[in-house]
Amino acid sequence: MLYSLVAYRTFDSNHKAQEPSRCRDSLHGHHFGVRATVAFDDLDANGMPRGSESLEEALARLIFEFDHRQLELILPTRHPATLTSIAAYLFDRLAQGFKDLESVEVSDERGLCGRVSR
Ligand SMILES: [Zn+2]
Repeated sequence: MLYSLVAYRTFDSNHKAQEPSRCRDSLHGHHFGVRATVAFDDLDANGMPRGSESLEEALARLIFEFDHRQLELILPTRHPATLTSIAAYLFDRLAQGFKDLESVEVSDERGLCGRVSR
């Protein structure tokens, strides 16, 4: 049986538009939601996926770097600050500590979601 655990956090950041159909040209902000999913093969004696206790803490620490900051100053310069590129960056960072990370999804207040998975 395969188990999944999902950690969810929100943050507010700003960026310069790279999606002409969705964003204004000038510096502006969004409210983002991040959902990280990790797969587990087994449950511990407490009925929790083994190793899951630090997922929400790891996501919270990572999101703290973004909160109320300009995305272009944090993300690698090879990609513009879109929902999918934010998800890719967060996936790479979280995958360093969670080898069974399945996916990272980033949504914003406009109802679109960028998702990166293995
Ligand atoms: Zn925007």
